[in-house]
Amino acid sequence: MSGRTRGTANSRRRVGYHARMAELERTDVLVVGAGPIGLELAVSLKAMGVGFVQVDAGRIGQTVLDYPPGTTFFSSPERIAIAGVPLMTPDQGKATRERYLTYLHAVVKQFDLEVRDGERVEAVTKRDDGRFTVTTSRQAYDARAVVLAIGDMHRPRLLGIPGEDLPHVSHVLAEPLRYFGRRVLIVGGKNSAVEAALRCQRAGAHVSISYRGEAFSETSIKYWLLPEIKALIKHGQVGYYPRTVPTRIDERGVTLASVDDPADTRAVEADDVLLLTGYEQDKTLFESAGVGLEGENRAPVHDPATMMSNVANLYLAGTAAAGTQHQFKLYIENAHPHVTKIVTSLTGQPPPAHLVNTAAKTYGLPES
Ligand SMILES: Cc1cc2nc3c(=O)[nH]c(=O)nc-3n(C[C@H](O)[C@H](O)[C@H](O)COP(=O)(O)OP(=O)(O)OC[C@H]3O[C@@H](n4cnc5c(N)ncnc54)[C@H](O)[C@@H]3O)c2cc1C
Repeated sequence: MSGRTRGTANSRRRVGYHARMAELERTDVLVVGAGPIGLELAVSLKAMGVGFVQVDAGRIGQTVLDYPPGTTFFSSPERIAIAGVPLMTPDQGKATRERYLTYLHAVVKQFDLEVRDGERVEAVTKRDDGRFTVTTSRQAYDARAVVLAIGDMHRPRLLGIPGEDLPHVSHVLAEPLRYFGRRVLIVGGKNSAVEAALRCQRAGAHVSISYRGEAFSETSIKYWLLPEIKALIKHGQVGYYPRTVPTRIDERGVTLASVDDPADTRAVEADDVLLLTGYEQDKTLFESAGVGLEGENRAPVHDPATMMSNVANLYLAGTAAAGTQHQFKLYIENAHPHVTKIVTSLTGQPPPAHLVNTAAKTYGLPES
């Protein structure tokens, strides 16, 4: 009797397990993220006949979609082209956000990729049978392998100061003409802050910059921005508060404190405040899957030869592999080799050479 009861419970458990598995959509590979590198990977997987599903929490190229309008790429076009499709610009110069977004959508159309957009992956779990259960905002999948191409710019790096959440405070530059005639204080000293300062000033705003460093980096600020910002500061067209940090924001302006002497403060009046202090990566998926995090960036642990993480058959593609970047080292133009490495690890064969960008190699330069 007791044996029969045990048997019944076991078989009920088995039936429950199979019923749950039947609810999962089965795929060979689940690609999470449809940014430039996720899309380049999808083109190669398709060409190799690998079954896959690609989902994105936002839209195709969401990270680029979130750039300020009219942003110019620092990379030359051939370096950010994907899947062997030439990226051409009307003046043979660097692409804008708008040009590149159009291009990404053309690639999706050309290769007839199916991106399930608006579908956020919430958890990735490795099961005892070695496969993955991937839970999204819409459904669950059963996958042999998972590629996290989720990028590294999931939320702005918050300063944690009073007033940071006021309506006139933003972590992104909007259309610059919105700032016409207004006093704009920009916090930051990297490319996004310098570019925002130049664009707002040209758009008719009265711009000041607060930067915790002394001077902008001669090596990492885009070479066409640096002379201009220096000249505008020198001639008083842009206000500059070096070695300061904001400590408080209210409706009238911002309190800046000296980095060297926090008691030394000053009030700067501002109608708009742009906190352009970088982004952080969301670690939730790595943690749910058991991927280790290491170093200052808390980068996901992986083998650079295959891009496989410490969890077997879970891969990292694109900037997802870098963790939270403080100084950008990994970006589109030097992440293309991830595609070749992942496809080779998954299938035992490299993808067709013409489908992966090798511009950086051709030029013999690590980056532009
Ligand atoms: C202003 C600016 C200018 C830049 N200029 C250049 C440049 O000139 N050259 C260059 O090489 N790089 C540049 N970059 C960096 C470039 O944007 C990134 O390197 C690039 O977007 C990384 O591509 P990716 O495919 O790895 O990831 P992303 O493009 O970040 O794509 C990740 C995708 O994953 C999705 N996603 C995230 N989490 C989830 C989830 N849980 N579930 C489902 N989907 C999810 C996101 O919605 C997103 O679409 C610039 C960045 C900025 C901000």
